[in-house]
This record gives sequence, C-alpha cells and structure tokens, in this order.
Amino acid sequence: MSTPHAAQRHDAQPQAQGLADLVSSTHRAGEVWVSSPFDGTLVGTLPASSDEDVHSAVAAARDAHQEWAARPVAERVAPLLEFRELVLQHSEELLDLVQLETGKARSSALEEIADIVLWSSYLVHHGPRALRSQRRSSAFPLLTRTTEHHKPIGVVGVITPWNYPLTLPVTDSLPALLAGNAVVLKPDEQTSHTALRLLSLLRHAGIPEDLMQIVVGSGPEAGAALVDCADYLMFTGSSATGARVAARCAERLIGFSGELGGKNPMLILDDADTSRAAATAAQSCFSNAGQLCVSIERIYIHDSVWEEFTTRFLRRVSQLKLAPGLTWQADVGSLISEQQLKVVAEHVEDAVEKGATVLTGGKPRPDLGPFFYEPTVLTDVTEQMALHSTETFGPVVSLYRVTSEEEAIAAANDSPYGLNASVFSAKRGPAVARRLQTGSVNINDGYAASWISLDAPMGGMKRSGVGRRHGTQGILKYTESQTVARQRFASVARPAGVGRRLWAQMMLRGINVLKRLR
Ligand code: NAD
Repeated sequence: MSTPHAAQRHDAQPQAQGLADLVSSTHRAGEVWVSSPFDGTLVGTLPASSDEDVHSAVAAARDAHQEWAARPVAERVAPLLEFRELVLQHSEELLDLVQLETGKARSSALEEIADIVLWSSYLVHHGPRALRSQRRSSAFPLLTRTTEHHKPIGVVGVITPWNYPLTLPVTDSLPALLAGNAVVLKPDEQTSHTALRLLSLLRHAGIPEDLMQIVVGSGPEAGAALVDCADYLMFTGSSATGARVAARCAERLIGFSGELGGKNPMLILDDADTSRAAATAAQSCFSNAGQLCVSIERIYIHDSVWEEFTTRFLRRVSQLKLAPGLTWQADVGSLISEQQLKVVAEHVEDAVEKGATVLTGGKPRPDLGPFFYEPTVLTDVTEQMALHSTETFGPVVSLYRVTSEEEAIAAANDSPYGLNASVFSAKRGPAVARRLQTGSVNINDGYAASWISLDAPMGGMKRSGVGRRHGTQGILKYTESQTVARQRFASVARPAGVGRRLWAQMMLRGINVLKRLR
C-alpha cells in the first residue's frame, strides 16, 4: 500500500474502477491507496472501514444468513456454479488485477484462476454430500434413533494475506457460504481491489448482497475489529499474527482456524531422479517469487547426489526469467513491497556476513522494478543465520549436504514450523513421509501435488497452523454438529416394580450382549 505521495491519482487503473463502492464503509476511517509493485503507479483508492463499519457489516451479514441458511443446500450450490463460469469469462481482467496489485508473474496469477475454478467445482460436486445429515449408532440401537446435523455457525470472518489474493479468499469463503453461513472478508490492504472484484462476481452469480461483505483496512484496525465480532474466524497469514488472533478468539470462545507460516524442507535422497528433482525444485522454490506458504526454503541433499543435483538445479535457476508487466514473458515477478524486499535482502546479507556462500543470485534488481530480487541459492548456512530457521517468504533457498536419510529427516523436522515437505526418492518416499512432521508431504513433487488434491485436507502442524482447509474438513469446520436423538419406546430407566438389584443384573447382562455388537 502506498501513501498519496508515492502515487498519482490520475494513474488509477481501469480494472480497479467502480470497486470502491463495494466496500462496507459508511463511516470511513480514511483512505487506502494501492500502488503497483511493478512501478509504483496507482491501482486505485478505497475507503477504509471503521470499527463501526465492521460491526455493521457483521450485523447485516448475521441477518442475511438466516434466510440463506434456510435454503436447501442444492439451492446454495447454484451461485457457485455460476461463479465458476464468470471467473473463466473474466479471467484476463482478473489476471491483470492480480498482477497489478501483487507484481507477480502472469503464470503465477493463472495458477490462482485454475485453483478457484477447480475448488468451486469440488464444492459443487462434493459439498452437498459432506453437509448431509448422517445417521449415528447408539448404545441401544433399537431404542434410540440418532442423527447428526451440520448447522451453520453464523458469520464467518475471513482474514487473508496478499500473496494469493484470488485463491485464499475463495478457498476459505466459498465453503463457509455453502455450509449456510454469511462471510465478512478482510483482505490485505494491498490486494483489496482483487477481493472486491471477486465479490462483484459472486454477487453477480447470485450471492445475496448482505450475505457476503468486504471490509477494507489494516490488520490491527479492520482485522482486529472483525475478530471482535465474527462468530468464527478463518485466518491466513504469519504465525505471529495468527497466534494473536487465536488468543482473542479463545477469549471470545469462538472457533478459529489458522493457515500460517512455514520453512518447508525438500529431501533429495540417494536414489532420487536428480534431473526431475532439479526442475521441480526450481519451480517449487521460486514460483510467485518464493512468496508462497508451501514453497521450499531448505533442501537437504544426499552426499552421493550433491554434485549432480546442485549442478542441474543451478542451471535451472539461471534459466528463470525475471520481468515486469502484464505479459506472459516472466517466470518470476516482483516482490510485493519494500518491506518484503527488506526482509529478503536482510536475510541474505546476514547469512553472507556470517559465512554463507551465494551459489547464484543474491542481489536486488532495481533495473526491473523497485522490489525485484534475483532467485538466490545459498550454501554453508548455519544456525547462527536468521534464514536458517526463520521463514524468508521470498526467492531464497539454502542447500545442505547430508550423509544419510536419518540426518535429512532429523534436520527437516528440526523446525518450529510443520506446513509442507517434499521428498525425492525412487523407492523410499512413502516411508520417509510417515516420519515427517508436516501437514502435507509431496513425493517426487514440491507442493503442487498435495495442494491440487482438493479432496484431502491441507494445513500445518506445529506453528504452521490450526485446523485444515480443503476436503470435507474444510467444509465441516464451518458448521456446528448437532446431535438429535429420538427415543422410540421407553427411556433407559428402571421400570416401576423392578427392584434395583434385579435391574442392575439385567443391565449388566444387556451390556455384555451389546459390547459384542459394537
Ligand atoms: P500477516 O500476518 O502480517 O497478515 C495477514 C493478514 O492478517 C492481513 O490481512 C493483515 O492485515 C491481517 N492482520 C494483521 N494484523 C492483524 C491483527 N492484529 N488482527 C487481525 N488481522 C490482522 O501476514 P503477511 O506477512 O501479510 O503474509 C505472509 C504470511 O502468511 C507468511 O508467513 C505466509 O507463510 C503466510 N501464509 C500462509 C498460508 C497458508 O495457507 N498456510 C497461505 C498464505 C500465506
């Protein structure tokens, strides 16, 4: 986000026009200026939502949710189907907007379009079944008929970061809506236009106006206000902020799900196909300029394939093309902001000062744009260096030589994070995966295989998260389970005229029979 001094009003992009009207903000708390990381031109200005605006948005959403929740699931699916088509029809315009706000390469933005279309399809096909009420067995099956229902929670607050401005709001908001909830979304300030364009498509597709709303503003203001009044909070962002938000949710006794940071390892074992591993690693470390929660920041390479892998990997990295602009020519785009560039540069400078070796990259590229940074590969990295264990969230990866599988597994697990891991091996991938402490493990792939497995849960262990998105879990977390048990004949109580001792004997015999039926 820029200040009025950094961008000129007349530079506003046509893709952003008209979106300011969609912000839930009648008592505006100032203005949010968004400028493009490519060259600082103004993308647009938006009104910031005040504390009062956030509370009003949640109150209106709560009212709207009553009517929406009463609709059968089959009816709630229809807008998702329509939304999927609208995304495809407007894909070029969405790609432009994502690129303008994030500075990412167009190919990285395209991954987001693919992802939201496929996730909408998953929800359309699998959501209704996941939400169906289910018969549950009881201790006395003949006496009691039990059903579990999935009831919407109310207003789900969704807070998202800037790195995947289409994927993350859609991934988390759509299942909440399908489950019968309302959603109030607070996107990152830098990417609020993209979120507002999504909202306009969703409304076009049939999502009622008050049911889904967007509040705009900073995390400590609009974000914190949403945490204070939503009925459930879905947060994606850093582990530090996630912990703060979770603490507030705990105070309010509302549900919380957090998709947080990572320091994701890749293991190249001695039987790996190094050619395939090198090509995949180049993509898995530098896609989206490394600003991807599941991207690889540490590679542990078996001594016996070190030379082979490293040579191939460095060749691949040197072929990556950096470029600005709304074209298809770049493999790697800009970083999002000066702040992000500062973190990346500081991590590399700190490592080099303490003895790390730069194998390739290691420099900013102001000739391409203010926040470009070269894909960077380091070795000789030690625990004293900040990037050894702290997430960089940029185009920087460290290579470590290991002499055994055991050493690679121990090093991979020696992290406060546990989001994603990758193992390259002809035969031992599944065995190694079972020993890794991460929410997803990709065998002979970096991160894409598990992410596109939309039927399987995705999320982090340790400081990388709480709860899961995707799959049935990613839908049912937005519901309260309600157990309805109907007693058919008599209650399980001592009938009149039967003595206590006799009743106890009858009960014990009955339990003895029932235990065999379980
Ligand atoms: P961040 O935590 O600073 O911000 C994320 C969001 O939280 C933004 O919308 C921000 O405005 C809001 N926020 C900030 N302070 C808040 C507060 N006190 N109360 C409520 N909301 C607040 O994260 P970031 O640096 O912008 O994003 C990058 C981080 O996100 C990285 O750590 C990355 O790994 C993580 N991430 C995780 C996933 C995942 O699925 N696990 C996906 C994308 C990004």
